[in-house]
Amino acid sequence: MPWHPHLWHPTTQVALHPEPLRVSGADGCVLQLDDGRSLIDAISSWWVTLHGHSEPSIAAAVGLQAQVMEQVIFANFSHEPAEQLATRLAALSGLDRLFFSDNGSTAVEVALKMAWQWWRNQGSDRRRLVAFEGAYHGDTFGAMAVGDRSVFTEAYDELLFDVARISWPHTHWGDSDIETRETQALNELDDALAVPTAGVILEPLIQGASGMRMVRPEFLRAVEARVRDRGTLLIADEVMTGFGRTGSLFASQRAGIQPDLMALSKGLTGGFLPMGGTLASERIFAGFISEEPLKTFFHGHSFTANPLGCAAALASLDLLEQHPERFLHFEGRHRPHLEALTAHSMVKQVRCLGTMAAFELDCGSTNYLNPVGRQLQRLCLEDGVYIRPLGNVVYLLPPLCISDKQLQNCYSAIGDGITKLS
Ligand code: PMP
Repeated sequence: MPWHPHLWHPTTQVALHPEPLRVSGADGCVLQLDDGRSLIDAISSWWVTLHGHSEPSIAAAVGLQAQVMEQVIFANFSHEPAEQLATRLAALSGLDRLFFSDNGSTAVEVALKMAWQWWRNQGSDRRRLVAFEGAYHGDTFGAMAVGDRSVFTEAYDELLFDVARISWPHTHWGDSDIETRETQALNELDDALAVPTAGVILEPLIQGASGMRMVRPEFLRAVEARVRDRGTLLIADEVMTGFGRTGSLFASQRAGIQPDLMALSKGLTGGFLPMGGTLASERIFAGFISEEPLKTFFHGHSFTANPLGCAAALASLDLLEQHPERFLHFEGRHRPHLEALTAHSMVKQVRCLGTMAAFELDCGSTNYLNPVGRQLQRLCLEDGVYIRPLGNVVYLLPPLCISDKQLQNCYSAIGDGITKLS
């Protein structure tokens, strides 16, 4: 299939990458291709498809809502689906206020702007933002700035504001010096927080795009203790980790931390519709209430609180509440397959968290541009499995509906692919 003459695909280099596969349908874990083949979507279509593609109860909820009210301006107006969603997310997250946007990057932008302006509204001079090495928070400018510098940001580096950057002590099975690296990172954090800081942003428990890099809950609790000690704000980017992905509803809960601001997207609507949400504590919200107009949070997107997205999100929350077993015990399903994979000499640094499993292919460079991932992707596609390694990091992040047989197929395709590669 040739490249379409009028489309421009995300993070795709036409000169180097193969043409996209044309999809005609998606059901559960399976993508149906135009040429008659079917593929298991082992990465939930960029981590968004939560329960499964075309999940009937979400499709029905969106269809019903579309017949009642498809969209309405959310300044001057409110509506039932938004109110219900905000109420339910507040009860689940411990954060009382929901601000809507359209995607993960904007959910992060909103959190950063809220943190920054909250201090300013109080007349404080806290200016510094603290972020972690390897962080990825999205592709808009603020999100890129707090994200680590990488191939994604290289062209724009001089436009990005500075942050204090702390080591991220990521770990894996059999890691023997994790305590030392955690202590070093915490010392760096102590130094950074000596400067008046507006907020600390992190991806709780696992950094996604930089290579599924997992930290221990105790590290995050130590970070939170320092944030509290210094009276600054903790911002959790749960765009990838939210909604059961880590084996808890939110990674912050699994880690035992309570952020002040939380960015959500991807699984928010079960992966049906583009929607972002930033949850804020009542204390943050209160800092914007004033008769001085300049203390207003001047931020708003055209599609704020889109009723179709809200309906999808409510139906998705219903499913999570009805079937917690689908995400609570996922680690046990990955584990035996991962253990078997360790027999391959190329497989290193195995780790697993909830529905997400990852390992590295030992082949020199750990760069995102390492071609080994694309080679393995091609081999897996021949076996009917779609993966999208991050350089030499191979991971699975399947929809919750994946059957044992389908999961087995994913691991077999990866195992066979690695054998061919080595
Ligand atoms: N934060 C995290 C942790 C993410 O994983 C992503 C997307 N991969 C984003 C933010 C940005 O989300 P979006 O692509 O929807 O803008």
